[in-house]
Amino acid sequence: MVPREKLVADMEKMFGQGKVLKSELERYTYTYDSSFASQSNEYYPDVVVCLNSTAEVSQLMKYAWENEVPVTPRGAGSGQTGGSVAINGGIVLDLSGWKDIVEVDDANMQVVVRPGIIHAELNQELAKYGLFFPPDPGSSVFCTIGGMVSNNASGLRAVKYGATFQYVLGLEVVLPNGEIIRTGGLKSKALKSVSGLDLTRLYCGSEGTLGVITEIRLKLLPKPQSRGIMLALFEKLEDSALTVLDVFKAGIIPSGIEILDDGGIRCANMFKPDLNIPEVEAAIFFEINGTKPAVEEEGRQVLAIAQKRAKSVEWATDAERMAKLWQGRAVIGAASARLVPGKTRIFAGEDVCFPISRVPEALRRIKELSKQFNIPVVIYGHIGDGNMHTAPIMDPLIEDEVERTHKLAEAIHNLALELNGSTTGEHGVGFARAPYMEAEHGKALDVMWAIKKAIDPKGIMNPGKIWALGRE
Ligand SMILES: Cc1cc2nc3c(=O)[nH]c(=O)nc-3n(C[C@H](O)[C@H](O)[C@H](O)COP(=O)(O)OP(=O)(O)OC[C@H]3O[C@@H](n4cnc5c(N)ncnc54)[C@H](O)[C@@H]3O)c2cc1C
Repeated sequence: MVPREKLVADMEKMFGQGKVLKSELERYTYTYDSSFASQSNEYYPDVVVCLNSTAEVSQLMKYAWENEVPVTPRGAGSGQTGGSVAINGGIVLDLSGWKDIVEVDDANMQVVVRPGIIHAELNQELAKYGLFFPPDPGSSVFCTIGGMVSNNASGLRAVKYGATFQYVLGLEVVLPNGEIIRTGGLKSKALKSVSGLDLTRLYCGSEGTLGVITEIRLKLLPKPQSRGIMLALFEKLEDSALTVLDVFKAGIIPSGIEILDDGGIRCANMFKPDLNIPEVEAAIFFEINGTKPAVEEEGRQVLAIAQKRAKSVEWATDAERMAKLWQGRAVIGAASARLVPGKTRIFAGEDVCFPISRVPEALRRIKELSKQFNIPVVIYGHIGDGNMHTAPIMDPLIEDEVERTHKLAEAIHNLALELNGSTTGEHGVGFARAPYMEAEHGKALDVMWAIKKAIDPKGIMNPGKIWALGRE
């Protein structure tokens, strides 16, 4: 490994002082993302380099390859598993300033972007063409498209539109040795291709462990004309999950199905008292989108289905009322910390995914685990695809609480595996979930590792992510 002073001097010589961050304070801001795992440690990078051209990224990777320096790509750093944190030192490659929209090809419903563009800003631009990129993470206003591809992010509309990989047609990637490849065909604008191994799919969700993504071609969809929002309140948690299943069985796929449990409802009310949502066991928010007549018809059907089990249901299509109904879901990320005054909400064990049929059981078991470890948990999230956000509320300064929270997060991850689910529905592995990969994948993890070693034999790309440090 190159000594830090020399590494910094080499980076400044190659890219100029303006692109290199080296002070302790500057580097400190790169020691964490949104995960509790990163916030409980201080993994300093030796240097941070902010680049915005493929040629420069290639130059950086050639240097890193020759000198065996670890490189951790980073977008907005909004990940919840420590993925963009340099746990083995070296260079953090900050791509968040590289925000170009290279081409909007509205005739083919595609867009080509650089990795640093922010999701919400991209969709704002695409709206001018009547188009949109459907995956819709809660972090839309700050996360980058490069980070979304690398984490294969999804979010509130995944139940209808799926995850990021379904929209990625091709990528430009700088390999660990600095060479540049294009996946999906050198010139292809085809919406479908079965030509060769699907490297595009391989890079989606690879979390910066196989190279640096420097350009992205995305498939787009026409922006739906119309939408409606329904809020259904349930006395029994299980009834909420059963209603979701009833809606699917009726052949309807809403564009969003989100849940707040009783704790979540309480937090939302504390955060915004005028919401005044009745304190039942569960609130479900349905969003239906499409053409105006389709939204009206499907809304009518979902209303009838929900009324069978719900204590109350409201359906709205006018903008003001929809915004009001949706507010409970919109504020929950920030509001959840209010559950216990003086404590905070952390991200740990927070995006487990269960088979839809086992969601009711999973919700009850998570509540039991919360009691067992005496750590309150607010449950909310994407119940339509079984992807639950379980938010522990705790005090990170109380050692015993930290320990119990770690145990709780571990139990929640193990519950997901026990119920035939996954330890992560959308946030990824990073280093926070690397310990569960063996149990989740068995021998398939060895095959993933063989692919990693083939592309990155020196192990310089984001070490310690997906596979824990020390694996050989
Ligand atoms: C409040 C909140 C709500 C969230 N809601 C959701 C949600 O609903 N759905 C969801 O899926 N996620 C959600 N997230 C998690 C996170 O925002 C997403 O995973 C997002 O896609 C990460 O983007 P980023 O730009 O912050 O990436 P970062 O956190 O910077 O990086 C994420 C990973 O990608 C790698 N990476 C980044 N850029 C590149 C690149 N150009 N080339 C190669 N590797 C790269 C990094 O090394 C790291 O492993 C949420 C986070 C927060 C804080």
